[in-house]
Amino acid sequence: MYKKNIKGLLNSLGVKVATYMLLVAIAPLSTYLILNSIVVCKYFLRIEKTSIMSNVQKAHKIIQSEGLSLEKIAKDNGIWSAVYQKIQEKDTEWFKSYYSAWSPEVFDLDLIVIANKNREIIDEYGLKSNNDTQLLDDKIISKVLSGGYDGKKNYPSGIKMYNGNLYIIGTSPILLSDYSGNSRGIVIFGKKITPEFLQDIKDKFGYDIFFTYDNTYVSNMEVSKDIKDNFHLISESKSEETIKLGESKIIGSMDIKDISNEKIGQLYIVEYRDIFLTTLNLMHKYILVIFFFACGLSLILGLKLKNIIVNPMKEFEKQIAKINDKNSSINIKTNGVNEFNNFSNSLVKYLNQMTDIICSYRKENKTLRKISNTDGLTSLYNHRYFYECFNEKISSGCRQITVLFCDIDKFKLINDIKGHITGDIILKEVANIINDSAKGNDLIFRYGGEEFVVLLDNITCEKAWLIAEEIRINIIKSKKIQKHAGDLPVTISIGLASYPNDSLDAKDLIEKADKAMYFAKQNGRNQCCIYNQDIENILKENSNEFAREEILVDSAFALGAAIDAKDVYTGKHSELVTRYSLLLAEKLKLSVQDKYILRIGALLHDCGKIGIPDDIIHKPSRLTDEEFKIIKNHTILGNNIAKHIVKNPAIIACVRNHHERWDGKGYPDGLSGNDIPLHARIVCIADAYHAMISNRPYRKPLSQDVAFEELRINKGTQFDPELVDVFIKTVEED
Ligand code: GH3
Ligand code: MG
Ligand code: MG
Repeated sequence: MYKKNIKGLLNSLGVKVATYMLLVAIAPLSTYLILNSIVVCKYFLRIEKTSIMSNVQKAHKIIQSEGLSLEKIAKDNGIWSAVYQKIQEKDTEWFKSYYSAWSPEVFDLDLIVIANKNREIIDEYGLKSNNDTQLLDDKIISKVLSGGYDGKKNYPSGIKMYNGNLYIIGTSPILLSDYSGNSRGIVIFGKKITPEFLQDIKDKFGYDIFFTYDNTYVSNMEVSKDIKDNFHLISESKSEETIKLGESKIIGSMDIKDISNEKIGQLYIVEYRDIFLTTLNLMHKYILVIFFFACGLSLILGLKLKNIIVNPMKEFEKQIAKINDKNSSINIKTNGVNEFNNFSNSLVKYLNQMTDIICSYRKENKTLRKISNTDGLTSLYNHRYFYECFNEKISSGCRQITVLFCDIDKFKLINDIKGHITGDIILKEVANIINDSAKGNDLIFRYGGEEFVVLLDNITCEKAWLIAEEIRINIIKSKKIQKHAGDLPVTISIGLASYPNDSLDAKDLIEKADKAMYFAKQNGRNQCCIYNQDIENILKENSNEFAREEILVDSAFALGAAIDAKDVYTGKHSELVTRYSLLLAEKLKLSVQDKYILRIGALLHDCGKIGIPDDIIHKPSRLTDEEFKIIKNHTILGNNIAKHIVKNPAIIACVRNHHERWDGKGYPDGLSGNDIPLHARIVCIADAYHAMISNRPYRKPLSQDVAFEELRINKGTQFDPELVDVFIKTVEED
């Protein structure tokens, strides 16, 4: 939930605008601040370096000035006629009493050397031994001793390493008090560079100070521990360079040369970086403050922008989105979008014009769509729309679909006999009946000329079959159709196939339903048939035969109609005998082949009557024996006519033996029981039943019940007893 809110917040345009604003504001600001801090830092570091280096120089100068004051003391004692005299006499006692005995204390000295020209030490203080002439070996000191500085008034002073320690020394040749004469020796006064000495210097100018030389170091007394700990690290650094010790200290250094200008070590000054660090801290704080201030400002600006731009845009978008509402007419308003009104009026005007055009196109489109999907004659949907609907149903998740493929039987004949206008009326009526039977819940299409498809969704094939049957029966019963078709029977054959059982593809499913319908046609029309694989196989195996059979059935039908016209029956005796025979065959679950034999056999059963004179056929009174003999001969005649029409002996036998009796007393062959062909026994019952319920010249038609009773009375004598019971049951059900 929380995450979702955050996501929503981030997605909102206002926040996006604020973020961009922020970036735009921050980018130059931060660049400026970063550059500034880099430049300032560098500048500070430079100042820091300059400062520390100047302090190193200062410290060095203080040390040099110590040397100068030692030179002055040495000069005071070396340029003195008394010393000049006493050094000649090598009066050690005199010198001791004047120098080593009290001068160290008075002048705070750590080193005194008084030597004559022959390098003999006359008096000393602080040497390793009283005849250690090591110091006199120094280039400059030896020059002073050998008279190199005679006649001058300033003498060398500086640092000198001796006995592992650093000393500041001042020198003077021994001359007469007026600087005349040749030098008779040298006076050296020195001070050891000790922690105390360096502490004095620190006290004078405030910085820790230390020397490194010969892998050792000497520092002022209070120097911090980290300097002592990092001495090796520090001593490895180059002269004139600054070293940072942690963040808080910076160290500057310079080379130290001795009195003879030989490098002997380095001098270091330690500075604390308090000011630098405080300034840097302050600067960072200011940068942060400025940064947050800029962020806040950008956010406020972004949100303000959201109110100014995004909200009106959203309102505008809402108005425009109404275009998607197919039903409402669109009229874009800018209510509550005041900021927008000023510059959007013309935009809104054009948008409204555009939406008006869209609306009118929509209406036209709707009409065009309806026209393109509808059949003009029946107002049902058309062939093209079937596939669109089917695929739509599948994609909307429909699990089961059954299609009924309906084809009006012998419609060409109706057109031929009654004319196309009547044909159209019947077509429309059939369409209405299909529509009514499907109860308006289903999609009905005129798939072809006199072919209709009903699309039933979420319904089992068995339930769909009941609907198909209802359609078939309602067409037979339709008074309107009968009124226009007259004597011509109008029936329909329907094939059923289901998705997904029979096929997953619309076209294939229709083909299968069409095959089932074709099979229904082959089986005598006016029936419904559910597709299965057997149908496919039968159609494949008998495709040629079915075509021939179709012609044969048509011929038999025509012949039957001709006989009926000649006969005494009003109506269609042969056709109805065929129908009753097939009903019984269906009930007995006879094979397709048996039904075929029955259909032709029943249509042709009375064809022999063609050869019977009309006056005998139409005779209203009882026939004489001779006349009856002639009548009986129609079975033989029928046999002979049928022989010319069909090859199948079973059909011929059906025609020949349809007047045989179960008890063997029938004609023409006197066959009995099961010797009589099954087809002939069936046609015999159907023929008798229809004769009984038909109007005859000599009597009125019997009622169904009386006719049934008559059949029952004669079962086992005239009729096959088992077949009579099944027949009565079948006709009752029908
Ligand atoms: P069956 O289907 O039983 O095999 O025989 P049929 O005579 O119906 O044969 P078929 O399906 O081949 O013939 C269809 C006939 O339907 C052809 C044509 O005369 C007729 N027909 C097709 N469309 C129309 C139409 O719009 N109006 C009229 N009046 N007749 C049409
Ligand atoms: Mg057709
Ligand atoms: Mg047809």
